[in-house]
Amino acid sequence: MSAAGDGSGRMVEIRGLSKSFGDLEVLSGIDVTVEAGEVVCVIGPSGSGKSTLLRCVNMLEVPTAGSVHVSGVELTHRDVDIDAARRMIGMVFQQFNLFGHLSVMDNVTIAQRRVLRRTKGEAERIGRENLAKVGVAEKESSYPPQLSGGQQQRVAIARALSMNPEVMLFDEPTSALDPELVGDVLGAMRQLAEEGMTMLVVTHEMQFAREVADRVLFMDEGMLVEQGPPSQVIADPRHERTRTFLARVL
Ligand code: ADP
Ligand code: MG
Repeated sequence: MSAAGDGSGRMVEIRGLSKSFGDLEVLSGIDVTVEAGEVVCVIGPSGSGKSTLLRCVNMLEVPTAGSVHVSGVELTHRDVDIDAARRMIGMVFQQFNLFGHLSVMDNVTIAQRRVLRRTKGEAERIGRENLAKVGVAEKESSYPPQLSGGQQQRVAIARALSMNPEVMLFDEPTSALDPELVGDVLGAMRQLAEEGMTMLVVTHEMQFAREVADRVLFMDEGMLVEQGPPSQVIADPRHERTRTFLARVL
């Protein structure tokens, strides 16, 4: 487990984060802290701003107001080296975004070589380690279209891990998968959590959130409505909006 760079134990610190698209405010004054080694799951209805929140953490969306620190580095600072800052952050999307014309091994080594300037041998060693960790070691010579969705998503996780991120962001990583393939991906994520990876996970998998999350955040209409341990937010929510949402998904 890596400690946050500023020594506070805070890996991700989001303060007063707002984001508008034109007149539409999709995030309103969000405050979230993720401690080093913590797993935080974000739940909430479609359109509540979950993806935008995650995208603001690595500046795929530029916040309208507020600040984001990752490992002590302010990504919202105008002088930040954004490419260097983003290297601390791994992101896994609903759509795996693998290169279909590249082998699995090339998919997991290309950024290591281009961005981190690792040699082919070093990148392959690290890639192989991470492919093994998520259970797809035997697929290194295959091409993404030859793999199941669950295998492709695990390759995407291995690719992100191979960059040695300090924190991993997951945006509904199992939502595009056939139900029978969801378990393998959640299993890989659970193992990662047990190894101490700091994780911010948008998910509709309540069982995963209940069992793996240290904390659950419920978002609605761009606001953080409530947060707490899963035993509270999922099992005994305080807010009516959380109850209404859970009644629909559980
Ligand atoms: P969630 O992930 O919770 O479903 P999103 O963060 O994707 O929600 O979206 C929140 C709101 O922001 C939605 O109303 C969505 O239509 C809007 N939105 C997201 N991205 C954009 C964009 N690039 N331009 C305009 N509106 C957007
Ligand atoms: Mg989303």
